[in-house]
Amino acid sequence: MANTQDHAAGGSPRAKTRVVRVGTRFIGGDWPVAVQSMTKTDTRDVAATVEQIRALEKAGCEIVRVAVPDEEAARALGPIRAAIGIPLVADIHFDHRLALLALEQGVDKLRINPGNIGSRANVKEVVAAARDRGVPIRIGVNEGSLEKEILAKYGAPTPQAMVQSALGHVQILEELGYEDIVVSLKAFSVPRMVEAYRLMSRLRPYPLHLGVTEAGGGGPGLIRSAVGIGMLLMEGIGDTVRVSLTGPPAEEVAAAYEILRATERRQRGPTVISCPSCGRTQINLVAIASEVRERLAGMSTPVTVAVMGCAVNGPGEARDADFAIAGGKRSGLIYRRGKIVKKVPEDRLVDELVALVISSLEEDNTRPFNFSEGGEHG
Ligand code: SF4
Repeated sequence: MANTQDHAAGGSPRAKTRVVRVGTRFIGGDWPVAVQSMTKTDTRDVAATVEQIRALEKAGCEIVRVAVPDEEAARALGPIRAAIGIPLVADIHFDHRLALLALEQGVDKLRINPGNIGSRANVKEVVAAARDRGVPIRIGVNEGSLEKEILAKYGAPTPQAMVQSALGHVQILEELGYEDIVVSLKAFSVPRMVEAYRLMSRLRPYPLHLGVTEAGGGGPGLIRSAVGIGMLLMEGIGDTVRVSLTGPPAEEVAAAYEILRATERRQRGPTVISCPSCGRTQINLVAIASEVRERLAGMSTPVTVAVMGCAVNGPGEARDADFAIAGGKRSGLIYRRGKIVKKVPEDRLVDELVALVISSLEEDNTRPFNFSEGGEHG
């Protein structure tokens, strides 16, 4: 079953992966590459965690993960899940009892490495409980936490070492006949994570969760994530993404959608094209473009809006975009689907454009319209 939200127009065809159900969503196969994030609150604080998850949902987050460091956090999962509208993933390290408790609390997915939870009996118990509830397991390999033996063998956390570590965990689940698996191979090093995912993609059909770990914040974090995740998406690799940024989690979601839009794997909300401006520009293009972006940020309907400084390149971009502005002398032309609608003075350009976008999309019943002006998603 394909979902029409996915526009895999660019890059290589998507690698064939198994479909795994995570609560109300599906990962893998032809399903749209799902956008995930992780809360930064203390999971034991249910109110704060729910508040952050609701902000994430508003930003378009589709799956959310919370850290489960102890029993109190595990017991908070039920109340958290009951108060949110997106699937909940429990992130657990080492302690299989926390995994069992998380499953009892109704989580939709576990992130746990079966090789790190002790005896075979522990693993069997967790897998049986996950299978009973139809809950998938993500194996999360991180370049910083590879097994000592593997590190000794490869001498460094190479892509091969990361894949060997992942395969070790995968085989434990496969031997138990359990294949509801998602795999991640995160690294700070972009070449390393890209190669690790490529290798894994050739070896197993499990859906891949992409991420660059500890990418940092601001521009450098965004660029690092965009290069690593974007490169793989262009190669058809990746079924769900999490952009890890040092900053508010809603920014991770906005960045994830931007990467999916840039790689043409998914279109959600407005894509605003704007020229860099130059000596020909006679309007305040930077301010106008940024106001257009802000004013349309709450819209989830896919739409392309071009904001161009002059009539040299303006008409060309305007033809390809759903809506456009081409600046003139302290004024601008507004276009809808390549046709000039009107000429307005500079100080009315944004209001007129936004009004036109809203009224046109409300009339257009071929795409679902969803808009709250000035939302958090950018
Ligand atoms: S569209 Fe016009 S104003 Fe913008 S950079 Fe190009 S030439 Fe300059």
